Amino acid sequence: MTVQGVQGYNPRTGEVYGEPVAATPEAEVNRLAQAAAEAFPVWSGLPGARRAEVLEKIADALDARSAELVEVADTETALGLPRLTGELKRTTNQLRLFGEVLREGSYAEATIDSPNPDIIPPRPNLRRLLQPLGPVAVFSASNFPFAFSVAGGDTASALAAGAPVLVKAHSAHPNTSVATAAVLSAVIAAEGLPEGVFGIVYSTPAGSQLVKHPAIKAVGFTGSTGGGRALFDLASGRPDPIPFYGELGSVNPTVILPGIAAEQTQELATGFAGSLTMGVGQFCTNPGLVFAPESLVDDLGKAVSGANGGAMLTARMRDSYESTVDGLAKHAGVELVAVGEAPEGGWTVAPRLYRTTLADFEADLATLEEECFGPAAIVVTYTDPAELLPVLARVQGSLTATVHAAESDHEAAGRLAEVLRRIAGRLVFNAWPTGVAVSWAQHHGGPWPATTSALHTSVGATAIRRWIGPVTYQSWPDHLLPQELQDANPLGIPRRRDGVLGVH
Ligand code: NAP
Repeated sequence: MTVQGVQGYNPRTGEVYGEPVAATPEAEVNRLAQAAAEAFPVWSGLPGARRAEVLEKIADALDARSAELVEVADTETALGLPRLTGELKRTTNQLRLFGEVLREGSYAEATIDSPNPDIIPPRPNLRRLLQPLGPVAVFSASNFPFAFSVAGGDTASALAAGAPVLVKAHSAHPNTSVATAAVLSAVIAAEGLPEGVFGIVYSTPAGSQLVKHPAIKAVGFTGSTGGGRALFDLASGRPDPIPFYGELGSVNPTVILPGIAAEQTQELATGFAGSLTMGVGQFCTNPGLVFAPESLVDDLGKAVSGANGGAMLTARMRDSYESTVDGLAKHAGVELVAVGEAPEGGWTVAPRLYRTTLADFEADLATLEEECFGPAAIVVTYTDPAELLPVLARVQGSLTATVHAAESDHEAAGRLAEVLRRIAGRLVFNAWPTGVAVSWAQHHGGPWPATTSALHTSVGATAIRRWIGPVTYQSWPDHLLPQELQDANPLGIPRRRDGVLGVH
């Protein structure tokens, strides 16, 4: 069978960029998966501090190649040098954060119950620890060629967990993927680690093959609801189903309450247009659905008319954006408020703002709550914040939900939070949802279709939790236990001992 190569493009011109990257043949995918399986006991058996050191070396090596990597990514994604330079720094800091997570050690939830023969039932010596599941497949995202790609959050958190990683490169930035993967592989080799700790495959069939491969024990994915669902079904349909952590679509409802709408009209309009059009709207946290009083619609519209669009990442995304906004334009309950500027050439689109009423929104919730990937939003007008509660309770899951409120709105904001916390993983107050800090308390997840598992996050320190599962050791001799569970606590990590948390 001839396997097609993966061709890069320049979204600003629509022209090809570089030579096609060879698709990974089936036999090579098998070889890489086998190498990952063989590397697993070696990589997961290293002390956490050693894995931390390797993550930090990868971060340093990526930083050292920043200018070159950013230039390739800019040609392939049109996201701009400043944004991409910042994104690569965020990516390397993310790798370093997982180094901190490993050294601090509480992620493993080491838990010790001393034996007690006098209770009913009698308790033996029980010691519980979260340990890596095995090699992980990571599907890079199109819209973050660094932070959610080859060396992004899924890769960093899985490597930190002790899992070898096989990345399925996104077809929208093959050359950036090749250049980034070369940096990771060089560090792995220089550190004397097995080749199978990190690998990469190219082409859609190679990605599906990874999900089905018996050596792969979990999958991380960022992308569309359709693609994510297809791969989730593949992972679940295996003879041995494996966890699939997909971050999919998100419309990110934003409520602007009446008090602040009157007090800060201009700031809200400017802030909204900036958040909507940042990165040509290609953010999973883009504010696509805004609930606002009628009085604010004109100002929001003026801000969007004055905003610039740009080139989208792929021709398919541009076409999908145009087809979704065409559908909105034809919708009986929806009206166009404003169209911004679209630069000439390539796969460019213009920002757009639409409006509807709360009653019309509710009447066709299934259509109007769909994510429109790109710089378009719908303003849903309301009169009384109390009317929003039953409607928001029915809106599908999102990564974020935002409330803008003045002092006079605080009571309504509190009632909204009760509803919004059930439909979104991060509740934002008086700010815009784009921009996701990478830190210990971050949660980037939410109910379906924001993700395939509302229990987990793909950003922040607890992203590591997806790749590790609990094992309890019962009555094992101390010297045969993992160091995290040994009596003397040789790693000095926080543990829960007989119900009490502490470094003991
Ligand atoms: P996508 O089409 O779902 O692709 C993501 C990855 O999955 C790619 O590696 C793709 O392979 C692979 N894939 C997709 N469908 C597959 C299938 N049926 N079988 C095997 N592999 C499959 O997503 P995208 O191209 O990044 O973006 C398209 C849409 O995703 C956007 O319009 C937007 O709605 C959504 N999106 C959401 C987020 C978010 O964070 N919520 C982020 C980015 C995009 P190939 O690369 O080989 O095609």
